Amino acid sequence: MTTHDNVVCTFCGCLCDDIEVEVRDNTITAVKKACAIGKNKIMHATSDPPPISVRGVETSVDEAVEEAVRIMSTARNPMVYGMSSTTSEAQREMVEIAEITGANLDNCSSYCHGPGVLARQQVGLVSCSLGEAKNRADLVIYWGCNPVEAHMRHLSRYSLQPKGLFMPEGRKGRKVVAIDVRPTPTTKRADVFLQVQPGHTFEIASVLRALLNGVELDFPDGADSVAGVPVEAWREVVEMVKKCKYGVLFFGLGVTQCRNTDINVEQVARLVQDANRHTRFSAVAMRGHGNVNGTNQVMSWLTGYPLAVNFSRGFPRHNPGEFSVVPMLARKEIDAALIVATDPGAHLPKDAVDFLKTIPVIHLDPHRNMTTPWATVVIPVAPVGVAATGTFYRMDNVPLRLKKLVDSPFPTDEEVLKTMKEKIAYAANN
Ligand code: SF4
Repeated sequence: MTTHDNVVCTFCGCLCDDIEVEVRDNTITAVKKACAIGKNKIMHATSDPPPISVRGVETSVDEAVEEAVRIMSTARNPMVYGMSSTTSEAQREMVEIAEITGANLDNCSSYCHGPGVLARQQVGLVSCSLGEAKNRADLVIYWGCNPVEAHMRHLSRYSLQPKGLFMPEGRKGRKVVAIDVRPTPTTKRADVFLQVQPGHTFEIASVLRALLNGVELDFPDGADSVAGVPVEAWREVVEMVKKCKYGVLFFGLGVTQCRNTDINVEQVARLVQDANRHTRFSAVAMRGHGNVNGTNQVMSWLTGYPLAVNFSRGFPRHNPGEFSVVPMLARKEIDAALIVATDPGAHLPKDAVDFLKTIPVIHLDPHRNMTTPWATVVIPVAPVGVAATGTFYRMDNVPLRLKKLVDSPFPTDEEVLKTMKEKIAYAANN
């Protein structure tokens, strides 16, 4: 038996890197320290792969790759999409395939934290590592997120409970505020819970900025509440911000997918900038899938844009309303799709999935899912972080190297995509 320590769990954006995994005869027999989701994910990482298939007929990896290359080489307006649960090395190959084929390139962030990434490009974001939050934060604000259920070790490892270098008392030394539209297990752990009406993120951030900057509020209709919460309560939050030594705001989809999307996050980012006139304050986006952050990083390095890129003119063009996955599928503009490390059958709107079923779809994934039964080409791959190594970006933009724990009979995403890229490039030049 071999025991691997400091293994990275690749399921959610926390990327906990303290996991212990026991392996016997190329089989994972025990997982320690992970949360229930992470443990289950690692224990069953190599189980239930889909058959290698082309149009429902079982075949070899080589023949499946040949068909995938033929589809992408002959498509007039293909789409390359997904990437949120694969390595940044594989993401790089996907960007290159999109460039060679003149494809639309998008990732899962276009319907989760993408607006926050766009806002960051517009106004910047004062941010910090999760280590700094653990070691320094005496004020934590959770806004529009529920880490107790979505990032199960976030509170115990990074934000709420842990004792840190300058926080020897852990939870006792911290004030915690939660802002959400409904009570959640996370709001129950907060000292102050502000239950707000949905759709008012911009308004709340604007009022907090005004109070923080000493601007007198003058509501024409004599209202004394904002988003259903008395102004006095917002004043108290502002006083907590001013008095803290180091504050961290963790924000989720309740902020990024609220009405106004990226404009909300711009205003929240400016709020954090304003807070830094009084104290030290940072914000961290609660990224969901393991390496969805990596998709934005890799696409930004290689194309200049974090999502929704179109290569049809031979150079990258960016327009989220036009080139992101859901509008592209709604307009039925694409004629083939390469989809890696995401399950559109489970995540996209029904109309989008119905359209995908009418065009050739190449799907790479370690597991059977709601896309594998109808995808034209299905290639199972080695699960990353268990049977394949590579790089993932944590929610705080820290890159972590994954370990390989067991051997897989299947190639990695990166290997399949690299082969496809070389064959597509050869076909394009001959
Ligand atoms: Fe894995 Fe996320 Fe659980 Fe950590 S919190 S063990 S990264 S699923």
